[in-house]
Amino acid sequence: MATFGNLSDRLADTFRNLRTKGKLSASDVDGTVREIRRALLDADVALEVVKDFTGRVRERALSDEVNKALNPAQQVVQIVNEELVGILGGQQRRLEFAKNPPTVIMLAGLQGAGKTTLAGKLSKWLAKEGHKPLLVAADLQRPNAVTQLSVVAEQAGVAVYAPEPGNGVGDPVKVAKDSIKFAETKMYDVVIVDTAGRLGVDAELMKQASNIRKAVNPDEVLFVIDAMIGQDAVNTAKAFQEGVDFTGVVLTKLDGDARGGAALSVASVTGRPIIFASTGEGLDDFEPFHPDRMASRILD
Ligand code: GDP
Repeated sequence: MATFGNLSDRLADTFRNLRTKGKLSASDVDGTVREIRRALLDADVALEVVKDFTGRVRERALSDEVNKALNPAQQVVQIVNEELVGILGGQQRRLEFAKNPPTVIMLAGLQGAGKTTLAGKLSKWLAKEGHKPLLVAADLQRPNAVTQLSVVAEQAGVAVYAPEPGNGVGDPVKVAKDSIKFAETKMYDVVIVDTAGRLGVDAELMKQASNIRKAVNPDEVLFVIDAMIGQDAVNTAKAFQEGVDFTGVVLTKLDGDARGGAALSVASVTGRPIIFASTGEGLDDFEPFHPDRMASRILD
């Protein structure tokens, strides 16, 4: 994953300096924490997250918490690793399925975040896992969105529920609502509702997404966020949390060479777990998110 290349290198350098020390003094710990702080800020991790993170690392590194099997430098690395897993959400969080199908998954996020692509990836993955997903085109803002979702559905080999293309601007809330009834009669067990995104957070869009949420009562609302978004990630995430109260996060474009830290801050700032990671334009470039594996990638 190119995204964290720079952060990984920076942290590796910091730890390399530590490894040459026999016993760590408070000033060693402070120096290391300062380096970690700089590396995280340079990677676009949100300031509030960096402050919490480095505060905890410092406190633990200076406390009596000891792991006798490790030398002091290794202990710091272990603490950083554990705290990093913590900001990434701790335990892996799997997708929640409804007790009574269909499970309803709603996608929300800014335009271009990768929602439609994700709809294809997620449905292909679910089909492979033995589910019968239905993709729902409730993005009726962009003229092309319905067609785009139909193309993605065809590539993924799954069904799509959409108003006829070119049928003017329909009511996305009604489309979403009707799709659930359709899924029930046709025995689709997972319904994925793609919603409209705009370039910025937009009150009207948020109201629409919130109305769709009320209408379909989803089991999951996934906030899709582009890892390249930079420092805007946190404010965007907060706005979507307020607007649609999402249950999980999907990070997209982790294959790019963005700094990525802002997107990583989202789980920590919103308290919502990252459930999937998207790593390319192809429908198979997609995986469940494991906080511990991501932390190791960053620290290796
Ligand atoms: P939407 O507006 O949120 O529905 O976004 P789209 O699904 O249309 O994606 C916008 C663009 O990003 C498209 O060109 C996708 O091919 C591309 N894209 C989506 N996910 C990824 C990803 O994980 N990596 C890369 N490199 N491109 C992606």
